[in-house]
Amino acid sequence: PTAEAGSATLRCRSAITVSSAIACVALAYMWQIASHPVTRSLPAARFSAAVGALTAATFTWRTWVAITGQLPSINASNPAPSPAHTSSLLLGALFLAAASISFFSMAHEMRRRETENSARRDGLTGVLTRAAFFESAEALFRQTLRRPVAIAMVDLDHFKNVNDRHGHAAGDHALAHMAKLIASTMRSSDFIGRYGGEEFVVLLHDCDADTARRFGERLVDLANRTRVRMPGNQTLHCTLSVGLACLSTNGAEPAETLDALVARADRALYRAKAQGRNCAALAGMAG
Ligand code: GH3
Ligand code: MG
Ligand code: MG
Repeated sequence: PTAEAGSATLRCRSAITVSSAIACVALAYMWQIASHPVTRSLPAARFSAAVGALTAATFTWRTWVAITGQLPSINASNPAPSPAHTSSLLLGALFLAAASISFFSMAHEMRRRETENSARRDGLTGVLTRAAFFESAEALFRQTLRRPVAIAMVDLDHFKNVNDRHGHAAGDHALAHMAKLIASTMRSSDFIGRYGGEEFVVLLHDCDADTARRFGERLVDLANRTRVRMPGNQTLHCTLSVGLACLSTNGAEPAETLDALVARADRALYRAKAQGRNCAALAGMAG
């Protein structure tokens, strides 16, 4: 009887350990799926998270049953497992299968997003292509804008001279460097696209005229103080000019189209160029 009691205790302890471990794994799995926007949006992952929830609940129950000593043991004298036992094991198996399927579906989705994302990026500078920039900006303009937005047009000064003096490859290197420099001055909610050649367009969220002016001046100042390190240890001084235009909103429809806002920023850029370059100019408010 002592040996039998000992083996029952051991069975009980293993059941507690295994059941609580499976419940924890299922809970952690569910948490991972729920806390990430990409996985949350995938039907396969949502299904496996639901199975995970059921598995976590069932195996928590099994842990509790084992702790209170009510777990029916399967041995020679009790060969038929109870329906509860069978269904919880089947659920565990279903959880494993669903989690594996959703793993492959998540990996596939990540790869698809990576490919889509790299198609939206300019190969040389890594910023959005012009088309991708306008697609995102137009989507923003279709919403009710609750806060002001601004557009900054940024053009590198006398860039033709850079190519003429240092060669086109060095020009490419400088261009990529300047794109990173512009991106480093933006907030994470802002976005930047390559408008064409050595000209960039930036959308600044929640940005009134004062903030836009400060952004332009900070960017001009940073570029002016920076020396671009070229291959072969040469350095290059590359300045830029910025044209800015703001769109104030009060929760109503935007008072101006995106194209009109960009055109105003572009005219401000011409003014900055005419004023001698290496400076920022702000367009007057529309209307
Ligand atoms: P400004 O100050 O008036 O803007 O003068 P700029 O010389 O920068 O302007 P311009 O429009 O006369 O010349 C633009 C130059 O930018 C010429 C072109 O070769 C260069 N450029 C445009 N795209 C690229 C690129 O992808 N790589 C390199 N290396 N150069 C580029
Ligand atoms: Mg230029
Ligand atoms: Mg240009």
